[in-house]
Amino acid sequence: MTKLGCSVTTCLHNADLLCCKKEIEVEGQDAKTSDCTCCGSFKEKSGDSFKDSTESPNTHLDVKCEAVNCVYNTDRFCQAENIGIAGNGATKAKQTECATFKMR
Ligand code: SF4
Ligand code: SF4
Repeated sequence: MTKLGCSVTTCLHNADLLCCKKEIEVEGQDAKTSDCTCCGSFKEKSGDSFKDSTESPNTHLDVKCEAVNCVYNTDRFCQAENIGIAGNGATKAKQTECATFKMR
């Protein structure tokens, strides 16, 4: 599993700069740079949607990833030890990115 930090505090699944999901899916099949990737599991926190109190932040997650041009991608799974999802202030998945993306 990958150690994941996430600065997307506008996401419903974010708590303490960590992700509360057990797995996420990163998108960006044709990505050649970080900003062409995004967290497909992003869900905008809206005024009346509070974090599910049963969710707690996970330090390690399974990360499925479509960004096959990334050196850390093996069979659409992320093999990096650590990744960072970025996109502070994002209101859409496309405004997030995997900051750890590295072109093969
Ligand atoms: S943007 Fe993705 S990694 Fe970050 S908290 Fe949301 S679902 Fe988790
Ligand atoms: S580091 Fe690479 S393989 Fe891992 S999630 Fe980010 S883009 Fe995908």
